[in-house]
Amino acid sequence: MVLGLSVGGWLGESAQALKPIGTLFVNAIKMLIVPLVFCSLVVGVTAMEDTAKMGRIGIKTLALYLATTTIAITLGLLFGYVVQPGSGISLVAQQPVGNQETPSLINTIVALIPQNPVESMARGDILQIIIFALALGISLSLTGEKGKPAIAVFTSLAEAMYKLTELVMKCAPYGVFGLMAWLAGTYGVDVLLPLLKVIVAVYIATLLHLYGFYGFCLKALGKVSPLRFFKVVFDAQMIAFTTSSSAGTLPMSLHCSRRLGASASTSCFILPLGATINMDGTALYQGVTALFIAQAYGIDLSTADYLTIIATATLASIGTAGIPGGGLIMLTLVLTTVGLPVEGVALIAGIDRILDMARTTVNITGDIMVNILVSKSEDELDIEVFDGVKKQDTTT
Ligand code: ASP
Repeated sequence: MVLGLSVGGWLGESAQALKPIGTLFVNAIKMLIVPLVFCSLVVGVTAMEDTAKMGRIGIKTLALYLATTTIAITLGLLFGYVVQPGSGISLVAQQPVGNQETPSLINTIVALIPQNPVESMARGDILQIIIFALALGISLSLTGEKGKPAIAVFTSLAEAMYKLTELVMKCAPYGVFGLMAWLAGTYGVDVLLPLLKVIVAVYIATLLHLYGFYGFCLKALGKVSPLRFFKVVFDAQMIAFTTSSSAGTLPMSLHCSRRLGASASTSCFILPLGATINMDGTALYQGVTALFIAQAYGIDLSTADYLTIIATATLASIGTAGIPGGGLIMLTLVLTTVGLPVEGVALIAGIDRILDMARTTVNITGDIMVNILVSKSEDELDIEVFDGVKKQDTTT
């Protein structure tokens, strides 16, 4: 990023020539969206299969995951609105943007069901893809034995897509270099200062969500000590912060949950599901960054746009893979849905890893928090272990 900025500032207008390197990277990200979301969602839903008997736990978990994510995205939008990180920049979108006509609510709902899922994939209509993936995942689970081979195929494809994402993310420094050089050459280096504001806004909102909101939930809903909770989950938070991967942190999240006295059976259901579909930090980040991009391009958003961002980011967070950079890919989807310029992602890509560290920490803390709340409500939490009075055997 620094090298790109320096080179771009030095080359001036001729830094245009470096843009294709960035475009290659952005195209590679876009290439991942449809297959990544589709496969990881189908697998996420079918993962619930073994635990269908845990219907009640499943419903509670899903409700809490969705509710906390909605609050996170709202907090992100609030911070984006108050801090106005993009207000100092004036970029011009390459293509005309804005939603010329806002479809009515009922039409939006009707359009959620794809008439032709293959066409939705070709168009990249992610909401329709999510709905189809959910439906397919549920029916594969209900199919029983005969559905298993297909589930295995999707699982393997999802793994391949995670790998591909990892490979694309390895190219991020080059892509970021190209985009930053082009940006600094075209608009001047000043364009970057507001990115600091994005980082500060995301980190403050993150801390508030972590310690304020989760602390409140633990105290008010779980009637357990938030202090003890945060002390124990710190290990998992450190892994999440450094690896930027919920999926990679899963073993540690499981370990911390057991140290907090949650039973193995509930934890083994709630945490993997959370690592796949519960992304509060990602939703929060999408709120701040979507507003940043709207402000940078001077686009006014209507109330309907805000609501669309909340709905899309909540759904998008379900489809976000728990791997580094997963949220950046889904940001393009949120932007497209509200009609914001997708090139805006280039601005965020340069600082994405810094933001990813914070959002992944929130993501996994949210998973463990929901696990504790649901386990407590189901009598699956040993409160003496939680309080540290008794030690749990975490080796089983
Ligand atoms: N890295 C995040 C996670 O694993 C996903 C994201 O990029 O937002 O939870």
